[in-house]
Amino acid sequence: MVIVMKPGFSQQELEGAKRAMEAGGVRVMVSQGEHTTILGAEGDIGGLDQEQLGQLPGVERVMRVSEPYKKANRKFHPDDSVIDIGKGVHVGGNRLVVIAGPCSVESREQMIGVARAVKASGAQAMRGGAYKPRTSPYAFQGKGVEGIHLLQEAQQATDMPIVTELMSSDQLSLFLEAVDVIQIGARNLQNFDLLKKVGRTRKPILLKRGLSATIEEWLMSAEYIMSEGNPNVILCERGIRTFETYTRNTLDLSAVLAVKQLSHLPVVVDPSHACGRAWMVEGMAMAAVAAGADGLLIEVHNDPHNALCDGAQSLTPEEFASLMDKVRSVAACVGREV
Ligand code: PEP
Ligand code: MN
Repeated sequence: MVIVMKPGFSQQELEGAKRAMEAGGVRVMVSQGEHTTILGAEGDIGGLDQEQLGQLPGVERVMRVSEPYKKANRKFHPDDSVIDIGKGVHVGGNRLVVIAGPCSVESREQMIGVARAVKASGAQAMRGGAYKPRTSPYAFQGKGVEGIHLLQEAQQATDMPIVTELMSSDQLSLFLEAVDVIQIGARNLQNFDLLKKVGRTRKPILLKRGLSATIEEWLMSAEYIMSEGNPNVILCERGIRTFETYTRNTLDLSAVLAVKQLSHLPVVVDPSHACGRAWMVEGMAMAAVAAGADGLLIEVHNDPHNALCDGAQSLTPEEFASLMDKVRSVAACVGREV
């Protein structure tokens, strides 16, 4: 249940409404937005009387929140969340954030070379997997801790924040020290224990939609992180599994609109994993920006043909530069900056 305060309410009225909710046995989350102030009830709302609360001074209206996610719900927090990922980069404002880099960290030359190239084209953050969730146990599994150190070198060389995937809480303390954004991959969307553990930190989390996750399941996973106290969640649509096999997955751009309506969290789109084909990435990146995404995650490799992972969907630095030009034009059409 949420209480929406009237414009121009007094502090005393706010305190009164909060106390009345607490007396009903719930915890109260106050969200003070630019235009609206909201009190959200957390916990069992059985003891709250909607009608009585609606008559309190300063209260405009009381709404029931029927969705099972609360902290991630826009009704609890009408203004868009903007997540600070370090080095002056924010996700969720008017400026789009482009995160680019190889699927996997392979070598110092590769990582620093690609990081410098994508930065020169306008990327604001870099990616690279050090721990890779591969379908086959015989495939390249990532460079592990050495990969994290190479990412740190690239971070120092370019002053860009690092985004990389955490697969196990065994590496959590390393990630907390070394990386700027922890990616929870599609395959771990419902690893609830991992979600709770990253929820107990304040690290920004890039939460990729699961291969077969509904929008509600995806938001419930965001709720797991937020319910433990970490509000810094960035959603990432990366395609879902459908009957179609021509593309690696099916990019669900309608999810961007749905999630932005249902939640205040920023959402970025990863057309690389969605399409699985490099030549489609630019078109779908433009479409994602037109649809209202807050940013993009793009795989870029210095030598896609010889990449150890996901070469077929990786752009060269030159192709990435061309994508950025196109994305800038589309962003301007929808009133966003890159
Ligand atoms: C990745 O970003 O490299 C990755 C493995 O993505 P996903 O979890 O979306 O498959
Ligand atoms: Mn990949």
